Amino acid sequence: MSKVRQQLLIGHLLVLGAGALLGWIYGDVAIGLLVTALAALGWQLRQLIRFEAALRSYSFGSLKYGDSIWSQMYSRFAHQRQRARDYRRNYRRLLKEVRKSTNAMPDGGIVLNRDFEIVLCNKAAQRLAGFRRKKDRGQRVDNILRDPVFAAYLKSGDFSHGIEISSPTVQNGWLLCRIVPYGADQLLLLIQDITERRRLSAMRREFVANASHELRSPLTVVSGYLDTLVEDTDVPDSWRKPCEQMQQQTLRMNKIVAELLELSRLESSGAAPANEVVDICGLLTAAKTSQRDVEAQAKVEVDCGSRSQLQGSAAEIESVIDNLLSNALRYTPSDGSILLSWSVDDDAARLSVTDTGIGIEDEYIPRLTERFFRVDPGRSREEGGVGLGLAIVKHILERHDADLVIESTPGQGSRFTCLFPLSRVALSEPVPIAGNT
Ligand code: ADP
Repeated sequence: MSKVRQQLLIGHLLVLGAGALLGWIYGDVAIGLLVTALAALGWQLRQLIRFEAALRSYSFGSLKYGDSIWSQMYSRFAHQRQRARDYRRNYRRLLKEVRKSTNAMPDGGIVLNRDFEIVLCNKAAQRLAGFRRKKDRGQRVDNILRDPVFAAYLKSGDFSHGIEISSPTVQNGWLLCRIVPYGADQLLLLIQDITERRRLSAMRREFVANASHELRSPLTVVSGYLDTLVEDTDVPDSWRKPCEQMQQQTLRMNKIVAELLELSRLESSGAAPANEVVDICGLLTAAKTSQRDVEAQAKVEVDCGSRSQLQGSAAEIESVIDNLLSNALRYTPSDGSILLSWSVDDDAARLSVTDTGIGIEDEYIPRLTERFFRVDPGRSREEGGVGLGLAIVKHILERHDADLVIESTPGQGSRFTCLFPLSRVALSEPVPIAGNT
């Protein structure tokens, strides 16, 4: 038992004892006890009333001094109040710091609840996207950022990536919006100004497209003359080899220019059309058939697990298959094999090219779709590669809302899988295909 409680108990027992003694002296112990008990109760009531009055006025004055249970309660209460005050002051200071730092951020930050209603936002959100800090509180965020792409992003619920939308406040401005879920059902919408980045990448694209376009005509003239020289019997023998080498290099330059132009075209066009239907099994079979007569190369097989068709551009999907198949043939020895397959299951449609070739080290896989990236530039050049094939494949797949998944084991082979969402799979009846080997 604590000291204060002991004191309280002993004090009351002593008072009651004194009352009983007085009662005994005057001939009635019970009356003596009753009178002292009433006096003790009266004193406690008085203390209780003073405590209640002190609580109301927050002034304890001399009440907090002494070591009675009431004084202890007064001082403990006063101490707790002081602590709460300090805590509130610190909390306010911290909040101010957080507010100041979030307002200093160049990117917009908006806290949303699970119904996408605005809880709070920083100054950059005001500047970049026109949010009003007080007036827009409680509004759904898509009522302020009125962009169909953003509305579709919220609706999809897939926040693993960001989206780019045009700025509602700056003409020709662009914003990158990304939602990050946190805590219990809270969402943080981050908005970044990417106008400059987009402008630079448009300039780069334009430059590459213009340069490639300008190189085309001189290259056509040079390769025309070289073709004539190579076939001309009057050309001295000592010139024949250099002419053939120049012709090969011009062909290579023509290929680079054509692929760069194709990349520029893909980069500047939007999503692939969804009204065209592509017969994937037909394309795979045609790709295999075109390889039939070529000797000394790996065997090509086709596995059509599904007859479903794909909504997209037939020419572009054909280019994907050609690029993946020509790579597989290039990097697979002649005794190896290549499997072209198409299947549709509950979560996605898969177009895969699997080979038993040289494979690729793990560290290079993330870089394969970069322009001009080659694991072994010498070998790729010898085989006629320019390092743009997989970049083209990636762009075509992006236009078809698809992803490229690369799995490979050095020395054993590689699998390049194009993962199409089911929304791209056509429901219409497929065209019957002749050969499915
Ligand atoms: P390239 O024209 O050089 O083949 P790509 O962009 O098509 O350019 O491919 C990039 C690089 O990826 C190639 O240089 C090669 O190193 C590697 N690669 C692509 N496909 C395969 C494959 N099936 N097996 C092994 N390596 C591959």
